[in-house]
Amino acid sequence: MKPMHLVLAFIVLLGAAWGFLPPFTVTLLSYIGLYALVAVGLVMLTGVGGMTSFGQAAFVGLGAYATAWISLSPEAAQWLGALPKGAYPWVGLLLGLAVTAAVAWVLGAVTLRLSGHYLPLGTIAWGLSLYYVFGNLEMLGGFTGLSGIAPLEVFGVSLASPRRLGLVIWAVLLLAIWGLHNLLDSREGRAIRALKSGRLMAESMGVDTARQRIKVFVLAALLAALSGWLYVLLQRFVNPTPFALNIGIEYLFMAVVGGSGHLWGAVLGATLITLLKEQLQDWLPRLLGSSGNFEIVVFGLLMLLVLQRAPNGLWPMLAGALQRFTGAAAPRRLAAGAATLAQRQLPPAGELILQADKVTKRFAGLLANNAVDLDVRAGEVHALIGPNGAGKSTFFNMISGVDDPTEGQVRLMGQVMQGQPSRAFAALGLGRTFQHVRLLGERSVLENVALGAHRRGRQGWLASMLRLDRAEEAAVLAEAMRQIERCGLAEVAHTPAAALPLGQQRIVEIARALAGQPAILLLDEPAAGLRHLEKQGLATLLTQLRSEGLAILVVEHDMEFVMNLADRITVLEFGTVIAHGTPAEVQANPRVIAAYLGGDVL
Ligand code: ADP
Ligand code: MG
Repeated sequence: MKPMHLVLAFIVLLGAAWGFLPPFTVTLLSYIGLYALVAVGLVMLTGVGGMTSFGQAAFVGLGAYATAWISLSPEAAQWLGALPKGAYPWVGLLLGLAVTAAVAWVLGAVTLRLSGHYLPLGTIAWGLSLYYVFGNLEMLGGFTGLSGIAPLEVFGVSLASPRRLGLVIWAVLLLAIWGLHNLLDSREGRAIRALKSGRLMAESMGVDTARQRIKVFVLAALLAALSGWLYVLLQRFVNPTPFALNIGIEYLFMAVVGGSGHLWGAVLGATLITLLKEQLQDWLPRLLGSSGNFEIVVFGLLMLLVLQRAPNGLWPMLAGALQRFTGAAAPRRLAAGAATLAQRQLPPAGELILQADKVTKRFAGLLANNAVDLDVRAGEVHALIGPNGAGKSTFFNMISGVDDPTEGQVRLMGQVMQGQPSRAFAALGLGRTFQHVRLLGERSVLENVALGAHRRGRQGWLASMLRLDRAEEAAVLAEAMRQIERCGLAEVAHTPAAALPLGQQRIVEIARALAGQPAILLLDEPAAGLRHLEKQGLATLLTQLRSEGLAILVVEHDMEFVMNLADRITVLEFGTVIAHGTPAEVQANPRVIAAYLGGDVL
């Protein structure tokens, strides 16, 4: 039995039982479906994308109020006079989604730029303010709310009863999970996952992180608004209470307790929290002898316990237990005969690829790079060496778009790169690795390497959700597999990257860079932490890549490694180039020998 069969069994069981369940259970399940729809958006935002929001309840409110207002306001009736009453909820849905998308886009554009704790604080601020907007607007009924909202009708069939509307809710939820599952299993999904490990790595793979973050944020808000629309059609009444900040926190509880990295975790979390709240609201006032929202205290304690015992939420545990029935997920099969991705015309050996011209970088009085000249040509390995603090990493940032030189110029493939972001460097053919390995640890080597080919694909979010991207995705995975084999990693292609020793992780980073079909490869200390045999393997690989015409720049500490590999060496000291030439020339240079403590290291 495959996991897919389990899902189908769940759906069939739910569908078969639906007509026979007691009304109370049907209502409860409908609410669970509504909450799960919001929580599944939070899984995308928080668990996958790494952004925390306490304000999702406000977006649920936007979705709910839009339909309530359309349904009841005389102005809306005037505008929509020609339409049959049954069309009003649909207009409400469109309005709710449009307003939510606009508000989320603006809020996202403002708050997502902020780093650290500002985003969660921002979500608290708008969660609070939208709540008061709902409560204070006369046309939305103030804190008393609006009642008598028209029910949903489809082809003349009324969906007023929870038993019917509940089916719609669960159909929408399951469709959303299907779409999100597809999205996560695509090039765009890999880009979203990459957001979590910081901007630097994703941008170097050609991902526009700012845009991607806003899109995830709007997506989560739209799912919340959709839930609000269904909510108002279920309740047929609306007031601001369910859209308050404390409910926003409850949604986050659901995602985190369920397992914020997993779509089904949202369903599990919504179920557990809803059932628990139901019970606690019954029991706690009886136990404590007075009424109040005591359950929020219990939730807080529960969250602490779950985070301590199961930091990834409860879903992984349940999934582990279920795996006894389904067996471990089979490694994904690659389609045979996949199309190939568009190829870049690589420059002939000897051509100038990267040129740094008098690159200077000042940090408040400290001259980290002092008029550094360096160039790299196709088909050569150029090494940049120098003692700790010499300015190597700073220079690396200057030539990869991470930072801009204070003075001087960087040219890549003949183009002046001043002010360009990392992804513009990637687009021109610059591939890089990181001094501290930046891989998606839980994802397979194959997926990590496929991220490197992100830039070479075209398919967007919608195509991915609807699985219209399968031909391109097969080509991307085939390309990733080719690079994996080229780097000798075929045996671990389906292993999670974090399970590999550091040496192999560094090779995975090289394979990932190669998947972008670079003309030049920048490697920041690729031999650091490698064992002798691993270093030999790395040297063999780099020699091979050089012979294929790649330009390679290595920043490296290991002198033996550098001297055996490099065609040319540039030596930095205190930000200034003190020597440049072949390994033999550099080794014989008195200034270099002095810089390296009398030559012991060389
Ligand atoms: P290396 O990589 O050769 O060890 P770095 O490029 O990291 O050297 O650092 C060169 C010098 O610049 C060091 O003195 C370091 O403290 C300083 N430096 C690096 N980055 C910054 C920064 N962002 N702000 C201020 N000083 C910095
Ligand atoms: Mg460094």
